[in-house]
Amino acid sequence: MSLDERAFFNERPEQRQGRYTCPRCRRENDYAVRWVRRTKKDRVPGNAGDADRARFAKLRDHLLRIDDEVVCKTCGKKFEIPSHHSLLFVDQFEGLPNDAELDAEIAAAERQPAAPPDRSTLPARFTRPSRGWKG
Ligand SMILES: [Zn+2]
Repeated sequence: MSLDERAFFNERPEQRQGRYTCPRCRRENDYAVRWVRRTKKDRVPGNAGDADRARFAKLRDHLLRIDDEVVCKTCGKKFEIPSHHSLLFVDQFEGLPNDAELDAEIAAAERQPAAPPDRSTLPARFTRPSRGWKG
């Protein structure tokens, strides 16, 4: 029986700030998002088999995002964190001198796609519901 991946890591909870735009009210706020930093153990656990040892050799330190959604600070509605990066490899940031640069790197990885235009700023003729074309 192979070991759970978590047997290979030391886990440490970590909070990171992320700036997200609410899809409902379009206000941008900073949110504290929970992550777990998984640091590979110094050596393979004693009960590891050959397959586990091979797996262990390939594993990398990483950050795993725990939170999938946040509650909008402006309108109070829950929304999904608009990012596909729920896992970040720590060695992508290796060699960076400090945490501030690490944060900048994560922010870059987390950068959101451009938001669609805000319909409320368009003239009424573009937003007025059209009738009849569906029959
Ligand atoms: Zn909102």
